[in-house]
Amino acid sequence: MSHDAVNIEGIKREPVLMHKHAKFCIRFLNLLPARLASHDSTRGAIAFFAVCGLDVLKSLSLLSNQMQKDVIEWIYGGLVTSLEDGQQSCCGFQGSRCVNIISNDEQLQANAKCYQWGHLAMTYTGIGLLATLGDDLSRLDRKSIVDGVAAVQRPDGSFSASIDGSENDMRFVFCAAAICHMLDYWGNVDKEKMYQFIISCIRYDNGFSQYLEGEAHGGTSFCALAALELSGQLHRLDEDTKENIKRWLIFRQVNGFQGRPNKMVDTCYSFWIGAALRILGAFELTDYEENRAYLMETQDNIVGGFSKWPQSTTDPFHTYLGLCGLSFMNEPGLAEVKPSLNMSMRAYNHLKHLHAQWQAESTDDKFATKETPASKLNSDDKSTSDTSPLIKAQ
Ligand SMILES: [Zn+2]
Repeated sequence: MSHDAVNIEGIKREPVLMHKHAKFCIRFLNLLPARLASHDSTRGAIAFFAVCGLDVLKSLSLLSNQMQKDVIEWIYGGLVTSLEDGQQSCCGFQGSRCVNIISNDEQLQANAKCYQWGHLAMTYTGIGLLATLGDDLSRLDRKSIVDGVAAVQRPDGSFSASIDGSENDMRFVFCAAAICHMLDYWGNVDKEKMYQFIISCIRYDNGFSQYLEGEAHGGTSFCALAALELSGQLHRLDEDTKENIKRWLIFRQVNGFQGRPNKMVDTCYSFWIGAALRILGAFELTDYEENRAYLMETQDNIVGGFSKWPQSTTDPFHTYLGLCGLSFMNEPGLAEVKPSLNMSMRAYNHLKHLHAQWQAESTDDKFATKETPASKLNSDDKSTSDTSPLIKAQ
């Protein structure tokens, strides 16, 4: 290695190149490289990895106030709010702006509108990014967004990504739980059915699969456990089940972590498996030095960023998740990460502050006995209904 290694307690350790990683994150906020053009439809998620990466690097101040405002405005530019009478809710954030047509042609606008709907992963990363940049979310109609989440819950309790129909599996169960938790409102989302779906996906080897009878998977296991925690249902797993899940997760460590038995180690699983074990309070049972050593092999020492494997191409996804994986091991200089939301504790505390504010406003409204959009929202668990407006499988 061309750079200096630091020596901590007699162990040679490669340094995390904080400044290079920060520059790498900023680069993805300014432009999307041609090789990633096909990812334009998930650009909101790329912005989330870049901004949250800067946050975990404690380097958000490298973005000027104007740049932060511009990113916030760009995210709000993807918000789908309006709903034609009689249509199902499709509120939420889009990942791309390619169907936002600027034109005076009303017919063209109406046609484009047919292709605008929220996507759960983009809504989760959009709200997470806004919270990370300190936005007060006052421009969001929380009820409409959660109506959009409830509208894509399937009869088996799982969720699709969007109203237009898509795969329905554990990834979107996590996104749904994260959105409702961040907005502190569950509306017509059926938490009991969601729980039953999650439990039905525990496999014979004690990992979770994407859907019924699939193969147990590390990313999916994170999604399942995080959704249980965020919906306040983690305690429903009995101790034996939790111990068995911990065992499956811990056995995914090779040096770094693999996502499934007999698969190659990959940087992102230092987050997926690490966060799952953090949620279960068992991360300290893993080998930190081996995990860190693998992650450092995937660090690009020239332009920053992390890749999934050593000597392969870096990307914002593995960069952010690699940094989070290092944060779980208390890497000096990195911010603390809340495992179940995949964002910094600082951003999560900002959300908790907003929740307290919303609850106070709701209480004030009740005392004043006037009905406002805020007072109609009830963050109480009783708001969960058994009659979610489920869409038919398409
Ligand atoms: Zn990966």
